[in-house]
Amino acid sequence: MKALLVDLDDTLLDYSGGVEDSWRSACQALATTAGVDAVALADAVRIERRRFWDDVSRHRIERVNMMGAWTKVAANGLERMGAPSPELAARIAEDFAARRWAVMRLFPGVPEALGRLCAAGVPMALVTNGDKSQQRRKIETYDLARFFEVIVIEGEFGAGKPEEIVYRHALERLGIAAAEAWMVGDHIEWDVAAPQRLGLRGIWVDRDRTGLPEGTAVRPHRIVREFCELLDPTPSP
Ligand SMILES: [Mg+2]
Repeated sequence: MKALLVDLDDTLLDYSGGVEDSWRSACQALATTAGVDAVALADAVRIERRRFWDDVSRHRIERVNMMGAWTKVAANGLERMGAPSPELAARIAEDFAARRWAVMRLFPGVPEALGRLCAAGVPMALVTNGDKSQQRRKIETYDLARFFEVIVIEGEFGAGKPEEIVYRHALERLGIAAAEAWMVGDHIEWDVAAPQRLGLRGIWVDRDRTGLPEGTAVRPHRIVREFCELLDPTPSP
């Protein structure tokens, strides 16, 4: 491995772990005093959240402004309840964001693993989609910049995975040919299939051991349960 491109959310950082509880708690904290049934609102928000993010083109547009997206999700939930309130939606979204930040953590062993890769002389690029202020705050909060020669954030760069230009830009700045680089991440298309098409080797993080999605033609070069497993000499089955 001459160089490594690394995904951030749900690869290094447990980003999704607190999402359900954070929405539920935000609804509980703010709905009742506004005269809205908190449990029903939490259900409405869950439905609206899936509907919102399942739309691929909307996902691409909205993920570079997460506070705006969360406010829309909360607003859609309130509308679904027949209790529209942009003001309450904004407060719920802010409360949700604060709760989520409070529970977000790097996965165990991540700084140590990144440090060992640096010590082994493997140049690394962090390649992450999403909102520039959210992603920069994550990088600063968890002191990740010190491990990476290159950081590519969709909201700063102007393009996101799986667009080829994103991986090419990271490789160019590392000064590494695609054939010499690996990419690791939890998204089978963005972090494995798209880089593989360019000649990189792709490592898929299958944290829940769900196995490859049914019907997929993607064949990762390696499957790991967590990022730290990269340092194991024996590939997992
Ligand atoms: Mg990810």
